[in-house]
Amino acid sequence: MANSSAAQVEHVDVLVIGAGISGIDAAYHLRHSEPDKTFLVLEGLESFGGTWLMHRYPGVRSDSDLYTFGYGFKPWTGPPIATAAEICDYLGEVIEENDLASHIRYHHRIVSAAWSSETNRWTVVAERTDTGEIARFSCTFLWMCQGYYRHAEGYTPTWPGMDRYRGQVVHPQTWPEDLDLTGKQVLVIGSGATTATLVPAIAEQCAHVTVLQRSPTYFYAGPNTNETADMLRELDIDETWIHEIVRRKILHDMEIVTQLSVDEPEFLSDVLIDLAAEQLPEGYDVATHFTPTYRPWRQRLAYLPDGDLFAGISAGLATMVTDEIDTFTETGIVTRSGRELLADVIITATGFNLSVLGDIDFSIDGAPLDLARTITYRGMMFTGVPNLAWIFGYFRASWTLRADMVCDLVCRILDKMDELGVARVTPALRPEDEADEVLEWIDAENFNPSYLMRSLHLMPKRLAKAEWQHSQDYWTEKDLLPAVDLDDGCLRFT
Ligand SMILES: Cc1cc2nc3c(=O)[nH]c(=O)nc-3n(C[C@H](O)[C@H](O)[C@H](O)COP(=O)(O)OP(=O)(O)OC[C@H]3O[C@@H](n4cnc5c(N)ncnc54)[C@H](O)[C@@H]3O)c2cc1C
Repeated sequence: MANSSAAQVEHVDVLVIGAGISGIDAAYHLRHSEPDKTFLVLEGLESFGGTWLMHRYPGVRSDSDLYTFGYGFKPWTGPPIATAAEICDYLGEVIEENDLASHIRYHHRIVSAAWSSETNRWTVVAERTDTGEIARFSCTFLWMCQGYYRHAEGYTPTWPGMDRYRGQVVHPQTWPEDLDLTGKQVLVIGSGATTATLVPAIAEQCAHVTVLQRSPTYFYAGPNTNETADMLRELDIDETWIHEIVRRKILHDMEIVTQLSVDEPEFLSDVLIDLAAEQLPEGYDVATHFTPTYRPWRQRLAYLPDGDLFAGISAGLATMVTDEIDTFTETGIVTRSGRELLADVIITATGFNLSVLGDIDFSIDGAPLDLARTITYRGMMFTGVPNLAWIFGYFRASWTLRADMVCDLVCRILDKMDELGVARVTPALRPEDEADEVLEWIDAENFNPSYLMRSLHLMPKRLAKAEWQHSQDYWTEKDLLPAVDLDDGCLRFT
């Protein structure tokens, strides 16, 4: 690392922003594939883990299995669905085993990043969250691993009468450490993966938990074990092998389900609803509370380890209400159908605010960067934006499957720059792309979670060609991304 005497700007070859699962993936790849490059990871928080460090609500856990949500290079040896603490431990081991700690700087929140075509460098300004000082860095390549949602606060819609409500309103993303729900009437708004995690974790201590959902979600329940892994462990097979075999098996099974969701969505939907009914008491109103109106996998399928949400409902600890909010009152909520739901605490499990590129002020040669005016190159770089990649994983399959592949591709691009002896790589449409229709970042017909739909206008655009889009389809990309032709004219090396 060189210290420029100019204005105490610390220079590295590659600067990674964010020490979540993606940033640590990037650091691992730089360490092993680019041993001659200097790099730093800058992280705003006090430690690593990102999502898994910040989310502190009771029961917080993955909804993907860790054989695929874990890295390809580090075996996962615990139960498939993992707690936040288990995921952080796993990430900590990756840092330790690969000697990454000295490359990570915590308490560095990036506020701006400016590209100069004169120097072929990014200059990045960080605010120290511990001391308030400003620190400056420059780099040849900027690798954004900042995640996809605003970390400071979750999304809470504004409902009529909210200001009258005398109880406490809590968003799971900013869970108060001292919140005591013992003996309380709790109302949870929303029925996504967060609710499915939270409700079983708090149900026993509360007087009662009511889940108010506007529309039902698909859930599927199963044990938090993996038969194949358990069997291979009994045979004393090496964990590296187990990881690879189990990963392949899970991906194989997921492919079948994904294909089914496209080819026979009604059949799959019926199967999932029947499975839910089997876990609920006889005569339970599955049609109202667990029969979604959307196609399976248009949103992420929520897994219930050991069917814990269904168990809570069956035990009478939690009640589902499928209705809309008419107004908040002093003591709770009145629904559109006139039902009054009393609550001491209301938990708004209503999702995220999308954050595009970490709310950082980006500029290119002095002009502000409007990412929505760019077209994405393979969901990882952007037209007209030099020497910058981001990691945006999968929503349907595990995020990390894509992160691993993007890491490999970024390293290939860095190698290609070295090979050509160039200082700049910029995605640009080829003549044959110019007339193509410019589309929204994601096809809402295919996948449409509400946080994305709310902020789609902020996202980069895509074309219909594979080169110019972020596919949510792992099974296509697993062959495409490793075989990307860097000489196909989409990347200008200058
Ligand atoms: C509760 C929950 C459960 C989830 N479960 C799953 C799951 O089971 N499977 C799955 O595939 N996905 C899951 N996801 C999605 C999940 O966020 C991603 O899969 C993954 O953890 C994202 O990792 P990341 O490193 O890209 O981003 P993050 O985890 O968001 O980490 C980004 C890091 O960048 C830092 N950062 C951001 N902006 C700046 C800045 N300006 N300056 C400095 N640092 C910055 C943040 O502080 C953070 O540490 C879940 C999400 C949530 C919220």
